[in-house]
Formats: sequence, structure tokens, C-alpha cells
Amino acid sequence: MTTIVLLGPPGSGKGTQAAELAENLGIPAISTGEILRREVQTKSELGARVQTLLTSGQLVGDALMNEVVTKRLAQPDCVDGCILDGYPRTAQQAFFLEALLRQGGADPPMVFDFVVSPEEVIERLSLRRQCPKCGMIFSAEFDVYGKDMLCDRDGTALVRRADDNPDAIRERLAIYSRNSAELVAFYKAGRYREIRAIQSPEEITSELLAVLKGSNRIAV
Ligand SMILES: [Zn+2]
Repeated sequence: MTTIVLLGPPGSGKGTQAAELAENLGIPAISTGEILRREVQTKSELGARVQTLLTSGQLVGDALMNEVVTKRLAQPDCVDGCILDGYPRTAQQAFFLEALLRQGGADPPMVFDFVVSPEEVIERLSLRRQCPKCGMIFSAEFDVYGKDMLCDRDGTALVRRADDNPDAIRERLAIYSRNSAELVAFYKAGRYREIRAIQSPEEITSELLAVLKGSNRIAV
């Protein structure tokens, strides 16, 4: 059983890596944000509780997030492990996960922390283009610099998004690192590895798989 936790700010590319790891390792990638959205959409009992919190401007607290993850990890597809993206988000959630895994006889998680500087996110987001007509987001590749990119759906010329400006990005990253400091400090004492998020997605996937292979060998 391999539990993998992906930490990192928005724009660090960890969602892409969660999907890559899931495919390579044959274990599910679990996005807690997605679970919550689905529960709200299907108007489940849990979804109704989440909706009430969000409508009243409150955050989804540790207890509810822990409950969601406990339920999800009990599903049969998690028997060989899983990749967690978006959880834990607080030190309290990390303690809870540790205890939950221990109860199930599993090892503590392998943690990958996607580290990215504001300049790197700014550069990455500067490659992002949006269709002003249908809202689809595309990533411009280096070889199309200087040429107009057109929307795959409707052929409209793509534009840069105005809200991905450098000041807003710096502010988002500062808030993220303040909020995650305690969580990162906790994990640094365990199986923890920083990942330079500026590499290409393929390079990052190879690095993650190499680390996992190595850590399995140590465990055996
Ligand atoms: Zn379009």
C-alpha cells in the first residue's frame, strides 16, 4: 500500500502529475476538491452540508475533510494505495491521515512538495491563452510564439487572461506558503521530497517514479 501526498500551490502542475502517477502506478488519484464538487452537484447529504458551509462563507473544516477522505480511502480501488491531491491541507488533517493509515496497517505517506517561485508561475501562466468566445483555456507552446493561436472549438483568436497578473500571483503564493508552513514542517520529518516544479511534465513524472522505486526498495 503506497499513499502518495502531493503538496504545492495553484499553478505548480501537481494535478497533471497526479493523473500521470495514477496511470503509471495503477492506483487512483483522489482530488478532494473534485469529491466535494461532485457531492454538491448530486445533492447528497454530505453535499448539502458542504453547500451550507460555502453559502454562509465558511471553509470546509478539518472534521468534514477527514470524514470525506476516510470514506474515500475505504473504497476497494484504494487497497493498493492512492494519490492525494488537495488533502491534507492543515497539520491537523496530516495527523489524522497518519493515524488512519496506521490503523489500517499502512506506512506513512510519501510526500512530494511541488516548489515553484512566483517568477516560474508567472512564466508558466504567461503561456496560458483563453478563448474570449467560449472560455476554453489552452497552453501556448514555445514554437507558436508570435503566431495567433486559434480556439479548437470555434476558431476564435485566443487571448491572455487579465487576472493572471504578476501581483495577484505573488499574493496567492504568499498566502499559500503562510498557510502550509506547519504542514510542510510536519512532513519534512518523514518521507518527504521537494520537486522543482519548473521542469517539463515528463521530467517531473520520471523523477517521481524514480523516487518511488527507490523508496520501495528501502521499505523491502
Ligand atoms: Zn472558443
